[in-house]
Parts: sequence; structure tokens; C-alpha cells
Amino acid sequence: MLRNENRADFPVEKGILAGEPQDEGVGIERCSVADAKIIYNSPFNDLLFRAQSVHRENFDPNAVQISRLLSIKTGGCAEDCGYCSQSARSPTGLKASRLIMVEKVLAEASKAKAEGASRYCMGAAWRSPKDRDMETLVAMVEGVKALGLETCMTLGMLSPEQAGTLAGAGLDYYNHNIDTSEEFYPQVITTRTFADRLDTLANVRDAGMKVCAGGILGMGETTDDRISMLVTLSNLPEPPESVPINMLIPIPGSRLANAEPVDPIEFVRTIALARILMPRSHVRLSAGRTQMSDEMQALCFFAGANSIFAGDTLLTADNPGEDYDTALFRRLGLKPMDLGPGE
Ligand code: SF4
Repeated sequence: MLRNENRADFPVEKGILAGEPQDEGVGIERCSVADAKIIYNSPFNDLLFRAQSVHRENFDPNAVQISRLLSIKTGGCAEDCGYCSQSARSPTGLKASRLIMVEKVLAEASKAKAEGASRYCMGAAWRSPKDRDMETLVAMVEGVKALGLETCMTLGMLSPEQAGTLAGAGLDYYNHNIDTSEEFYPQVITTRTFADRLDTLANVRDAGMKVCAGGILGMGETTDDRISMLVTLSNLPEPPESVPINMLIPIPGSRLANAEPVDPIEFVRTIALARILMPRSHVRLSAGRTQMSDEMQALCFFAGANSIFAGDTLLTADNPGEDYDTALFRRLGLKPMDLGPGE
């Protein structure tokens, strides 16, 4: 049974914050920042035990969902996201390209399916899609779905109409990260607001699609910013079904090229808090895995991460290749997750 009822009052009523013995598997889907901080700062072993208990109540603890990501339109983006290699405002040296052909997407998706992917994500470096591109995007969604894969897109901001069109084509997930806390957001991006992000997430939800939304660690934000970001996500009217947590890969030429690396223990704590606050969401270890040790990834899986991107590139960044992941999964006794109806 899921024990998430009466979430607003849950921490105090159950003695969680008073350090009293707790039931295993206690997840919280409504939480204040103050309560989340107490959970985040609890002794590491207690935090991980609780996160793993929540994980076991909601998922097969040894199954990891595998997604593949393809850049369908690279670089030349008008936005100024400080972490991104694809912003036209940052001299990162990335060559911009146009929206690729539907046939190319379908060929890549077939290959990904043959290699074990269950979800195919397509990303375009746009502020938002142009209406003239919608027909091509719809053809991509329909084609990838016809291959028997779940579909996800990340195309920037969506109007309610665009969200409706993509949902009508059968798009399962839409990714739109909130990136960080509302307070820190203007330090990272100035060409759109945190509220704009939330509006797109609401449009996606209203159109009936599942939401993929997470953020990035290592941009110079504080621990409180990370906690606040997770609380924002978990307190959405419905929490995202998929929560990617990225570790910044500093890109030469980007504004955050010299950002301090994240402490691995802090990263694992963030994953654990995400699992506790969003018990039934897939928490995805996304960008930055090439900079994580095997042991750090193993701790992240123990803390409740249960999704990864496979393949040797993530849009424009390096990612551990297929062989590396297969070997790591074997050493950890992990297996790819079979997705049943609805998930
Ligand atoms: S993160 Fe997306 S919106 Fe921001 S600059 Fe990069 S491609 Fe553009």
C-alpha cells in the first residue's frame, strides 16, 4: 500500500521530524521547504535507508528504465541558458543545424529499440517550436510510436495549442526542466522566467501528456536551491512522472564553464530527497554520468534513481556508452525495466 495520504501533515504526525522511529517506505508528496531540509540533512545512512524503503514500496528496486535521446535540431538557440552548449549567445563553437528529416529519426529510433531502449526522447534547441514545424514533429511522434516505443520530446516552451497537437499525435511525455530554484533561476537564464516554465508544464499536463521535469546541480546554486527545486516539482498539482537530475558538464565558452563541481555526497542526498518527495516518479540520472564514479552511480541507484539515458551522446554531451552501462548493470545486478501499461 502506498502511504502518502495526508501528505501536508505527514512529517510531524508521524514523528519524522522529531527523530522518532518511522515506518519504512515513508514517502511524502506534499512538503514544505523547511520539512524537506530536515529530511535532506538527516544522517546519510538514515536518509538512504528511508529513500531505499520508499523506492521498494513503489518500484522493483533492481530495475532501471532506459531512455535514448536524439538531438533533432542542434545549436543556434536564441535562449541564454548559462549551462548550455547550444545557446547562440555563448561562444561554445557548436555548429548549428536545422531540424532533421523524419526518416533519420525513425532509423535512429529503430536502432535504439533494438539496443533495449523503451523510451525515445527527441530534443530541439528552440525557445519554442514554430507552427511551421509542427507537422514534421507530429510525423516524428507517430513514426516512433509505431515502432512500439514510448515517446518524449523537449522543444522549449509550448502554447496550449501546440501541446494539444503533440498530445493528439500520441506524444507520451514532454520534457521541460525547471532547472533550479525560483530564487536562483535568474542567475542562470534571463530570456524567460521561472513562471514561463511552470506555464508550459501546466499546458503539457492540461493536454493530457505525462510530465518530465527536473534540474541541474552544480551551477553555483546552494543546497537550499536544490531542495527548493525539488519541493516545487513535488508540489505541482501532479508531480512529474519523470524527474531528470543532471550534474552540470561545464562547457567551455558557456557562462558556467568554471562552475565548481558538485560534492558527490550532496548529489546522492539530492537523489534521495527526490525519491522521498516523489515516491512514484522515475528519478533519472541524466547528464554528467561520465563524471561520476561507478560507486557514485551505485549510491544514486540505491538512493532511488531508476532511469538513465543510454547511448554515447546526450544531445551534444558525452554519455557512458552501451557497453559501459551493460557492464555496470551486471556488476550491480540491475536490469532494464519493462514498462507496463501506463508506465
Ligand atoms: S537549454 Fe534549451 S532553451 Fe536553453 S539555450 Fe540550450 S537549447 Fe536553448
